[in-house]
Amino acid sequence: MRELSEAKKLISNADAIAIFAGAGMSVDSGLDSFRGNNGLWTTSIPIEGVEYNYLDLMSHQAFDENPIDAWKFITHLKEKFEQTNPHEGYYHLLELLRDKDYFIVSSNIDDQFLKAGFDENKILEIHGSINFMQCMDILEREIWLTPDMNSNELRLDNLPACPNCGGHCRPNILLFGDWFWISIRSVHQQLRFQKWKSEIKASKKKIVALEIGAGKTIPTVRKASENFAKECPLIRVNTMDYEIKAPNHLSVQMGAKDFLLSI
Ligand SMILES: [Zn+2]
Repeated sequence: MRELSEAKKLISNADAIAIFAGAGMSVDSGLDSFRGNNGLWTTSIPIEGVEYNYLDLMSHQAFDENPIDAWKFITHLKEKFEQTNPHEGYYHLLELLRDKDYFIVSSNIDDQFLKAGFDENKILEIHGSINFMQCMDILEREIWLTPDMNSNELRLDNLPACPNCGGHCRPNILLFGDWFWISIRSVHQQLRFQKWKSEIKASKKKIVALEIGAGKTIPTVRKASENFAKECPLIRVNTMDYEIKAPNHLSVQMGAKDFLLSI
């Protein structure tokens, strides 16, 4: 594949790589996409025999009106993330970046990059992380680590409580139609990314943007990579929606893991 060998050359010649990762990266570890392009949001999940639509549980309103089921879903997801190891592609990428400057922008909330050993100061999680929670009272601006819970034992009186006021919490991730997400952690990461971006762009370094598994459904990651790659090559890797417009950009129709293991 011509595109693959060109991508390989660009990556090995680069001094700095900005990685933009979407759901496709997690899917290859065996995780369902959180906001993926495979229609998962329209399917339902069973919790103790009751079928729930993802959409019904992933909103601020659900944590307000139906907190037990909403937390059961999050607990179920968190357990799944904890049991799942990052695929080999992550480790191959980490090895490849050993002698390069890098930053990761990811829409995934599953901490797979951290788990694989990437530097936490070089990660921007644009939708937050499942491992943090915030008070339902959004005037409180602090966030907390999400405690370990057993979804079978969740009751109204033992839901994760806010250390400030003792009230209910919700995960600190960007939910559907979410006006209430406290994005402070993500903002700090964003500032680190901006600083890295200006420094790297001011240097004489060869820069490449590598976008992996980012779909069109929620196009935040695609927009971020296109925005970053105004003056440098962008490699777009995806099994579908892999097309790319600008002439100096490259599109590779491959899955995340397969691609990372071939470069
Ligand atoms: Zn509180």
